[in-house]
Amino acid sequence: MAGWIEVISQVRRPQLGEEVPLLVFRAFRVFTGIYLEEIVGDKGASTLIQKAGRELGKEVGAMLKDESLEAYLGKVVDFVKDAKIGLLVPVELTEERLVVALDECITCSGMPDIGKRICHFEAGFVAGIVESHVKRRVRTYESKCNASGDHICEVVVEMNHA
Ligand SMILES: [Zn+2]
Repeated sequence: MAGWIEVISQVRRPQLGEEVPLLVFRAFRVFTGIYLEEIVGDKGASTLIQKAGRELGKEVGAMLKDESLEAYLGKVVDFVKDAKIGLLVPVELTEERLVVALDECITCSGMPDIGKRICHFEAGFVAGIVESHVKRRVRTYESKCNASGDHICEVVVEMNHA
């Protein structure tokens, strides 16, 4: 699916411009998620959404690529902030695991506890970013989410489990 960022970057909205309220983004995300869950179930929906995030992460990773993992992660942190996705804070990086917190998460920050984690797209995005660098498939899951009462969004990537 390479090249989608270039396609969707072409915006012609002379009067309205490129900014939209966060609520519009969340409405799109949540209503799409609810409908997907109805059709394919909780597990299927989260897998689909995570996979979409993973593809985006791979495309963004290819744009930001850098030989050094440290420099690469620095660029990713800047990108995520500039795009107002959130404030990405690396929590742990070992051979086995990457853990990142996403403060002020675009999707869940400030949401009440609805008893489930909802940022599957973001988890996939982080996995795609990692996959773009390590050139292999990794496993990912969202370990904390504002929507499950955690007061932060956090993603774990397991480097050696596909
Ligand atoms: Zn989140």
